[in-house]
Amino acid sequence: MLVPSDKLTKKSPSSDGFLERFQEIGHLAEAVAEEHCPNARVEPALILKNKNVTLSYGPYGSAFDGMLEHRSGRFHVYANLDRLKTPESGRARFTLAHELGHYFIDDHRRALQSGQVFRHPSKCDYESRNPAEQEADHFASHLLMPTTRFVRKAKRYVPGLDAILALKDTFGTSITSTAIRYTKLELAPCTLVKWDPDGLDWKWFSPSTYAAGYRRIIESQAKVPPDSATGMALAGKPPPPKGYFQAGTSAHAWFPGAWSGSSRDVLLIEQAIPLGEFGVLTLLYPEARRY
Ligand SMILES: [Zn+2]
Repeated sequence: MLVPSDKLTKKSPSSDGFLERFQEIGHLAEAVAEEHCPNARVEPALILKNKNVTLSYGPYGSAFDGMLEHRSGRFHVYANLDRLKTPESGRARFTLAHELGHYFIDDHRRALQSGQVFRHPSKCDYESRNPAEQEADHFASHLLMPTTRFVRKAKRYVPGLDAILALKDTFGTSITSTAIRYTKLELAPCTLVKWDPDGLDWKWFSPSTYAAGYRRIIESQAKVPPDSATGMALAGKPPPPKGYFQAGTSAHAWFPGAWSGSSRDVLLIEQAIPLGEFGVLTLLYPEARRY
């Protein structure tokens, strides 16, 4: 089972309707990808154009990544280059896909059309704890990285960050959104941890990791050894040319329930990649590639 951290959402993945709702949104997004971009990389700007949703890029400060507006019967998307850098960046493409989520998910679109809300400002790429934002992020993930295409490509690469970085380039996505998709799809038995300057931001466990009982992880940066891959990334040290730090570690260093020397204290590969202003991402997976 995949679980977001309590900080990410208070909802349990098994709560009534939660899984079903997310499955429906994923199916909807993949149907949109298949209809508009069946044979090539999914282009959210093209889909906006096909749906007569206008788009403008501009320097809009720090309040939002993207915003869907409904005015006089027409939809418009604002994309904020102060946070997205360039229209081609993975984060920019994810933001457009996220706004498409607000457009295609019926109750999101109707809230705008009915005038309940005039604009929908968004912080994308799994930064928001708001349920509507999480639904739009989920839509964006499935739109840009349709399951069949993503799994087929992923199987070509050595598991871990090498695969995630190659998939990011193939699908034109951010490191974070690609790593989450990779983890959710169990392409390796991994744990994904996002750190911000204050500590753990969120965590995801692949289904087999969760099933094997690895469900709690250290949450304080003070417990991360400074000479570990994550410690060096958090300290701002320049990574090796491949773009990330890697080291061997063991489960007891990360999972409080995996006592040192116990059968659960397996050897792990730890990879950590700096995300600039967005923090550090850590990927942990068993050296034996299974628990
Ligand atoms: Zn949003």
